[in-house]
Amino acid sequence: MVLCPTLIHGQIDPSNRPNFIIIFADDLGYGDLSSYGNPSINTPHLDRMAHEGQKWTNFYAGASVCTPSRAALLTGRLPVRSGMSSNIHRVLFPDSKNGLPTNEITLAEQLKKAGYASACIGKWHLGHKAQYLPTNNGFDSYFGIPYSNDMDYIGHGDYKELVQQNLKALKTEDYNVPLLRNTEIIERPANQNNITKRYNEAAVAYIKEHKDKPFFLYLAHNLPHIPLFASEHFLGSSKRGLYGDVVEEIDNGVGQILKTLKEEGLSANTVVIFTSDNGPWLPFKTHSGSAGPLKAGKGTTWEGGMREPAIFWGPGLIEPGMVSELGSTMDLFTTFSAMAGVGLPKDRIIDGKDLSETLFHHKPSPRNSILYYRGPELYAVRVGDYKAHFITQGEYGQFGEREVHDPPMLYNVNQDISENFNIAAEHPEIIAQIKKLVEDHKSDLVKGKDQLAERE
Ligand code: MG
Repeated sequence: MVLCPTLIHGQIDPSNRPNFIIIFADDLGYGDLSSYGNPSINTPHLDRMAHEGQKWTNFYAGASVCTPSRAALLTGRLPVRSGMSSNIHRVLFPDSKNGLPTNEITLAEQLKKAGYASACIGKWHLGHKAQYLPTNNGFDSYFGIPYSNDMDYIGHGDYKELVQQNLKALKTEDYNVPLLRNTEIIERPANQNNITKRYNEAAVAYIKEHKDKPFFLYLAHNLPHIPLFASEHFLGSSKRGLYGDVVEEIDNGVGQILKTLKEEGLSANTVVIFTSDNGPWLPFKTHSGSAGPLKAGKGTTWEGGMREPAIFWGPGLIEPGMVSELGSTMDLFTTFSAMAGVGLPKDRIIDGKDLSETLFHHKPSPRNSILYYRGPELYAVRVGDYKAHFITQGEYGQFGEREVHDPPMLYNVNQDISENFNIAAEHPEIIAQIKKLVEDHKSDLVKGKDQLAERE
């Protein structure tokens, strides 16, 4: 049983490598947890996790929609490099031909080099064919729905109108999504009424079964992506309505996981992070989440599309406190590789930074910039406090048509979190600095072949 932290002189003890758990929500917004200001969703377990660990306030998903965001998380690379972003289809669909290219290295493959066991539970969305599934991408096992829970729709009526006019009409049977164990379909349509519950139980069981060797658990909930489903115990539990019920069930699972880690003596040797793949899907009214003070949501390169809650927990490892430094889901690849003592691949560009020093000692983050891609195109860049929008475009009928800005619009996103006050005219020197960064970035950028475009 591990009783003491594995930091020796402020560094990881190589003989006692930590376990890693990534809990990834789907379409959960920056303002959807009580610890991030939500007044009517009650998330006591995540709030405690934030209190005992680090709450990051400038942490970003790798893209503003599911597939590229997940590719970024698991490869530590901008999805434009792997071809997992597209302006033809923004995500993979049940009839998509391709998936994550086999020459990409996932975090699971990376940690396997150090002998980690690994499991993927939940939404995958990096290709549903056997060769693209988690078990062919470094994970020892997979249990989950391989893409979004609103796909394979076999219900009647216009989907969006149904959602907007009669929210209660949505039934789990209307979505013929498969539930897989490894590469086999074990249930179809997956019963989504209790899917979050089942994912949470599977995560707890996995931890108990793997307490004796280093493990990496990737728990990617299908929810709170619409259509929303919660198990019976949680229906009606939240003042926020069904969306709140769903988030509270996810929160409850976080509580079960942390409790299990404590009971199994693993809490001093496990790093847990909770975050989300992209911002709220706003057109779905009360069935969508909230980006809090941030502008817009899913699909856009405004802050609401990509800035996410991010809570790191690991008593004895993670130094508690609030962190307003920059971070990205891509950094998990690099950070966890470093903590596990695995060198980074040398034959490719890795965009992730090692956040260990910030996590262990509250040192400044090595990340100073965020690149906001929409599909394969760079729309905006943040350097330090400042964010320049070269192109803006709303999504799903909100927040305007595509617009090119020359000079770019400039916002100080720490002082003006809602991106209301364009200060480009006052800071030509900052725009010049950001343009130089864009030039450097593009000078060695090789865009991967679009993996999302082809469908059967
Ligand atoms: Mg999503």
